[in-house]
Amino acid sequence: MRPTLLDSLFADATTLPGIGPKLGQILAEFTGDKIIDLLHHLPSNLVDRQYRPSLSEVEDGRIATFEVEVIKHDAPKRRNLPYRILCQNDTGYLSLVFFHARGDWLGKAMPEGAVRLVSGRVERFRDQIQIVHPDHMLPKAAFEALPIVEPVYPLTAGLSAKILMKAIQAALPNLPALPEWQEAEWVKQQSWGDWQNSVQAAHRPEDLAALEAGHPARARLAYDELLAHQLVLALVRRQRRQLAGRSFDDAVELPNKFVKLLPFPLTGSQEKAVSDIRADMAAPTRMLRLLQGDVGSGKTVVAVMAMLQAVANGAQAALMAPTEILARQHAETLGPWLDELGISWQLMTARNKGKLRAESLAALADGNVQIAIGTHALFQDDVAFADLGVAVVDEQHRFGVQQRMALSGKGRKDQGGGVDVLVMTATPIPRTLTLTAYGDMDVSQMPDKPPGRKPVETRVISMDRYDEVAQSLGNAMRDGARIYWVCPLVSESELVDLAAAEDRAKALHALYGDTVGLVHGQMKAAEKDAVMARFAAGDISILVATTVIEVGVNVPEATVMVIEHAERFGLAQLHQLRGRVGRGLDASSCVLLYRGPLGETSKARLSIMRETEDGFKIAEEDLRLRGAGEVLGTRQSGLPAFRLADLEAHADLLPAVHDDVRLLLERDPLLKSPRGEALRVLLYLFRRDEAMRFLQSG
Ligand code: ADP
Ligand code: MG
Repeated sequence: MRPTLLDSLFADATTLPGIGPKLGQILAEFTGDKIIDLLHHLPSNLVDRQYRPSLSEVEDGRIATFEVEVIKHDAPKRRNLPYRILCQNDTGYLSLVFFHARGDWLGKAMPEGAVRLVSGRVERFRDQIQIVHPDHMLPKAAFEALPIVEPVYPLTAGLSAKILMKAIQAALPNLPALPEWQEAEWVKQQSWGDWQNSVQAAHRPEDLAALEAGHPARARLAYDELLAHQLVLALVRRQRRQLAGRSFDDAVELPNKFVKLLPFPLTGSQEKAVSDIRADMAAPTRMLRLLQGDVGSGKTVVAVMAMLQAVANGAQAALMAPTEILARQHAETLGPWLDELGISWQLMTARNKGKLRAESLAALADGNVQIAIGTHALFQDDVAFADLGVAVVDEQHRFGVQQRMALSGKGRKDQGGGVDVLVMTATPIPRTLTLTAYGDMDVSQMPDKPPGRKPVETRVISMDRYDEVAQSLGNAMRDGARIYWVCPLVSESELVDLAAAEDRAKALHALYGDTVGLVHGQMKAAEKDAVMARFAAGDISILVATTVIEVGVNVPEATVMVIEHAERFGLAQLHQLRGRVGRGLDASSCVLLYRGPLGETSKARLSIMRETEDGFKIAEEDLRLRGAGEVLGTRQSGLPAFRLADLEAHADLLPAVHDDVRLLLERDPLLKSPRGEALRVLLYLFRRDEAMRFLQSG
């Protein structure tokens, strides 16, 4: 139950002046419809009414304030003409302009001969200085009661700046005093205020500096938000650690046999990851580990090692991929190895239907299948395993937190139902953000790649030189190259994107005939696979694709990657796409085609791609150039959208938050101390009510 202390903050926004039911609905979609949601909507700019120039010297376009005398009203003869009020002072004339005005109201507010303070954005129209719909027209005393500096908030359609500002300002004097959930010493050391003061200060900026992320009020609120987030992740993680899991013996025989089958030794990174996983699986608690390694770093081998550990202990293992193509590819790679080791395995996707599916289900349920490889189909409700020991989830960013939690419940009931989970991702998250994104998991990173990889030569070329690029493919093909040509997501509509890809395929077909194939997201899975298979076999040499090939597809013979409209892709995505080539023995190249003119940021981003192939470096640079919100879209990373914290600007707070949470939970795991009680209030404030579940018992 939410503490009553917070009731006033969770009252409907419609209880604020100026917010009716209709605006309430708009707010519900825009900020959230409770008062606290408005308080978490921070100003993005401000209007400074200290600017009081003379009428002869005022700068066009600025918000200015003048003291003037009202000379005369000029009511329009026709309804669609504006109403004008002419004013003057010693320095010149000022015209106030109103559309669809109510003359009676204006007559009362601005009687002729009266002196008024008028404020608004100044425009020059012919030789006149005018303000259209002034923000304020008030007698001196009333004007002086206004804040000199007014915050300006991000808006949405149907919401006016003034109404939003007034509503938020009206909420500020009535904020409850909340107990301090931050460490008193820390707050003092940072020279921050308490929550109440900080919210008020953030909404009453006095100058532009008060809008900066580093301003004490904003920094404190950002810390609060990060603290709530990290605390929940830490609680989830701690709870998971307490869940009974299986203790798998440190079996070495089967994994060693597998390593001997490989034509290469494991890299240092792979060895380290394998030993992390072994320790997790041997422990009597559940594993939830993230294996983070760039495209081509060799995660699959590590996954197999984990699965073999379970199999060697008589349990089953499952490997889940996000797409049909990838599941099949895993089956093709792993199948021969598993056969050699005498392990029974099975591919299971949505295409297993009817009798086939029934047989598959039976084989999983009676334990005849030791390793299952598949898509989401593996974790439908009707799928039961005889004894699932470990589940590996490939390309984690396609799955949500819920799904990874659901997975861990497929185990043997008499063993507590616990399944060890390993999630693998190639999304290179900047190191500074790993904990924020994946705080509920343990993380193994694989920084080094298998040796002998040839660098991919990357060129950035203008679309003006399309003909030249298209022609050059001919030469490459004569040398046996296989080529990906990726067309971007240009619109919200898949059909429009498809048309672009079809056009490109046609154009290339005109040059190279039937060696050109097309694969896109609208195709049936079987059709897609057929095209991919022909490309892998070399029947097709140029594969035009929408971004369906984005994840994980492996065709070692592919040596050229052309990406059209490269400027529209995220760097992480470009990096992933480029990772499709350079997998074989031959030298590879990547052509980033852009349509100019490019802005500075776009230029800088594309040149990073030319300069490095290090996914982590690319991620850090992308973060620097674009900000965390965009690099880590919620969809990609599972990171929540923060409202008060800016992961880039407040990056320096992250280590402090992590330490804070760690120490806190060591000392007060159930949040029972006075600070613990205050932290519960914080969790409710940020709507993390679900966290309370983890605090009920030891
Ligand atoms: P990813 O991490 O992108 O999933 P994969 O597991 O698909 O990478 O591995 C990419 C390629 O590298 C595969 O062809 C694999 O056989 C090969 N590979 C994996 N480990 C090593 C290693 N230690 N030495 C050399 N090649 C390796
Ligand atoms: Mg992979």
